[in-house]
Amino acid sequence: MPKPVVAIVGRPNVGKSTLFNRLTGARVAIVEDTPGVTRDRLYRDAEWRGRQFTLVDTGGIAARPDDPLVAQVRRQAEQALAEADVILFVVDTRTGLTADDEEVAELLRRSGRPVILVANKVEDFSDPSLTHEFYRLGLGDPLPVSAIHGLNVGDLLDRVVDLLPAAPVEEEGTALKVAVVGRPNVGKSSIVNRLLGEERLIVSDLPGTTRDAIDTYIRQGEREYILIDTAGMRRKSRIADPTEHYSVLRALKAVERADVVLVVLDGTEGVTEQDKKIAGYGHEQGKASIIIVNKWDLVPRDDKTMARYEEMIRQELSFMSYAPILFISALTGQRVARILPALDAVGAEASRRVATGTLNSIVREAVMLTPPPAVKGQAVKIFYATQVKVKPPTFIFFCNRPEDVHFSYQRYLENQLRQAFGFEGTPLRLLFRHSK
Ligand code: GDP
Ligand code: GDP
Repeated sequence: MPKPVVAIVGRPNVGKSTLFNRLTGARVAIVEDTPGVTRDRLYRDAEWRGRQFTLVDTGGIAARPDDPLVAQVRRQAEQALAEADVILFVVDTRTGLTADDEEVAELLRRSGRPVILVANKVEDFSDPSLTHEFYRLGLGDPLPVSAIHGLNVGDLLDRVVDLLPAAPVEEEGTALKVAVVGRPNVGKSSIVNRLLGEERLIVSDLPGTTRDAIDTYIRQGEREYILIDTAGMRRKSRIADPTEHYSVLRALKAVERADVVLVVLDGTEGVTEQDKKIAGYGHEQGKASIIIVNKWDLVPRDDKTMARYEEMIRQELSFMSYAPILFISALTGQRVARILPALDAVGAEASRRVATGTLNSIVREAVMLTPPPAVKGQAVKIFYATQVKVKPPTFIFFCNRPEDVHFSYQRYLENQLRQAFGFEGTPLRLLFRHSK
């Protein structure tokens, strides 16, 4: 289920990033980062009163230093309009109303999109004259806040949540949802075309056609697959297109909806920093993944090339050692036929439930073999484990001192579970809870 998007717009220095950090900071749950996985800080998931949304700081996105100020702010606003469900238009009560503010307000007003006019840098709420002039923008009551001190931010979040579109009903059906992600030109559209067995999607170097999310259905025998947002993927922009930054958000959204993520790499280029980041999206969200090394036809190789390549990938993408790797060529079709079966297998592993009895005999054995190291002379005991969730498989371990189960021991338990049950392709979550 894709989360609604809330975009922050405004002139430089009005306090957008301060507000962004505030809204995703102390008072709001942040999605946990995985060590070693970098993540674009311009997009962050936030939650308020049980509603989740993705917050976008357009200030960072649209920065193009050579543009005149007004053009920069205008571009942010246009991008926000293209993607956001709710827009926070931030103005600065210290500098007061400016001509740029008025121009952007005009654009936002005409869009008819829900806009909250945020009057920032108000530290004294007893003085209504601070926000008065902003009524002129025609965007309703300005909401006074102090981003830096967190004043009135709860009210702002209340308003945001009230304006979010109704939560969509969970997508049903048996089709496996697949996100195809990767840098531009690694061959994503070529792979999708191969999977479709027809040239329905255009593989070309031309700038893009449409920006709407379009899913593609594939059926093979009894099996159904949905390739998520293939239109966004086939969009090309070798020319510097500021909205291309949104492809990050786009990939994140596709991954969010997916059961399995195909992480596509270019076999001639190895693993780049950008590849790591993209591969990290799925991992962070607990999604199953398959690593596809494409353009294998271009890689000069002998009988050891593949093994060496695999070893390199395992090193570079060490946080997702569970993901199977396929070496393919979308151009020649080599091994493309393995993709759908691999998706089936990995999708099944991500949904797998293990019986509590079997789980506990494996855990007991693992603990007997190597007990958790004592901390400050106190024994750490694991009593019982249970699987509480699938996609990803999530286990709770009840123990006497959950905070003392060291990370390396958690790793050990995860490896034991994988040895016993497989779970190829899917991350696992291990949680430790207190129990007497
Ligand atoms: P952005 O360019 O719109 O992202 O603005 P920043 O978040 O970088 O903030 C610009 C400046 O305004 C920084 O020096 C902030 O510390 C300051 N600032 C942000 N929010 C407030 C506020 O609520 N009150 C005051 N007094 N200063 C603020
Ligand atoms: P996307 O931007 O990730 O969707 O990449 P495309 O599918 O548009 O492919 C980018 C370029 O790489 C195109 O010129 C493709 O013809 C080429 N390409 C894609 N897959 C392969 C492959 O397996 N081998 C070779 N040699 N070229 C490929």
